[in-house]
Amino acid sequence: MSETLFSKIIRREIPADIVFEDDHVLAFRDIHPQAPVHVLFIPKQPIATLNDAIPEQAELLGRLMLSAAAYAKSIGVAENGYRVVMNCNGDGGQTVYHMHLHLLAGRPMTWPPG
Ligand code: AMP
Repeated sequence: MSETLFSKIIRREIPADIVFEDDHVLAFRDIHPQAPVHVLFIPKQPIATLNDAIPEQAELLGRLMLSAAAYAKSIGVAENGYRVVMNCNGDGGQTVYHMHLHLLAGRPMTWPPG
């Protein structure tokens, strides 16, 4: 896959407001937040879209989800609730082709999404 700005964030070549990191996952605040809490959880190993994930990456996908839940608990929004979203390709609204999970919290969410 061609490199995206998220790889540059991982390498600290462009700034980001990083809120969580481990060996596999990096999380940073979205630059255009859609909720009071809007954090992106990305695998350090670049995968373009969910379509490109393979069974051997199942644990990594789980790590994204569990990291988001742990972060939501750590900042005290888990009990009220939150939304996690992964956009895939054009109709899904994906704009950055380094797979990522959005964590949105701090306000009631509507359903269905727009
Ligand atoms: P998506 O549309 O699902 O691909 O989400 C991409 C997200 O990345 C959008 O919500 C953007 O606001 C966000 N974004 C783009 N550039 C940056 C950046 N430099 N730092 C943080 N978030 C970014």
